[in-house]
Amino acid sequence: MTPLVVVLSSPSGGGKSTIARRLLAERDDLDYSVSATTRPPRAGEVEGREYTFLSPEAFEARAEAGEFLEHARYGGHRYGTLESEVRRVIQGGQHVLLDIEVVGARLVRERFRDAVLVFLLPPSGKLLAERLRTRGTESTEVITARLTRAQEEIAAAVEYDFVIVNDDLEEAVHAVQAILEMEARRTSRQRGLSALLERISHEVAAEVRRGDPNG
Ligand code: ADP
Ligand code: 5GP
Repeated sequence: MTPLVVVLSSPSGGGKSTIARRLLAERDDLDYSVSATTRPPRAGEVEGREYTFLSPEAFEARAEAGEFLEHARYGGHRYGTLESEVRRVIQGGQHVLLDIEVVGARLVRERFRDAVLVFLLPPSGKLLAERLRTRGTESTEVITARLTRAQEEIAAAVEYDFVIVNDDLEEAVHAVQAILEMEARRTSRQRGLSALLERISHEVAAEVRRGDPNG
């Protein structure tokens, strides 16, 4: 199996983290690329699990050193995918899941032409705002800024391979699962395919030599 590079994007509150958590719990062939950020941890976030939390200086130093596959600014903070994270997961033979915004997603696509880009849409603007408020992790000002940015993010959804409306959570998780199942079966991604075709073809030839099965 050729590991997939899977990108999940959405406006803030669109359900990326929730769906990512579910996928990671349900599949042992998938692992998460832990990004670096300069934003402070939210209550309950753990260093090295949700993010590697860096000072602006440390982030800049790692950017200068070329450690990021991509990085972008969001809400006054910096976020970046560490090349070492993506390498760690792929070398372990697993698919790699990236929860990143749209500018970073474009850069990942440039780097990995066959990355699978999935955009999650909220069922409505009202529900997006409600989910963000209910999550309770940001101030009113930050929520307004995130909703403002959501407008340009939604416009970028057409650049993605798949768009899923995250209305019912179970259905949305199931839809991403189906995409992973199908993408892994693409002819172009099946590393051992020629060996498999050759083996089965030889086996069929042996059956032919053995004679007519009804004879
Ligand atoms: P993101 O990571 O995209 O910012 P989250 O995964 O944190 O979004 O989801 C935002 C909030 O919406 C969370 O409180 C989450 O529990 C809730 N949520 C996510 N998906 C659904 C859904 N399908 N139905 C109801 N609530 C949801
Ligand atoms: P949050 O602060 O809600 O965790 O994340 C804010 C935004 O930054 C989300 O859209 C999230 O997907 C994005 N993000 C998280 N990590 C990265 C990253 O490594 N690169 C980019 N480009 N965006 C990221």
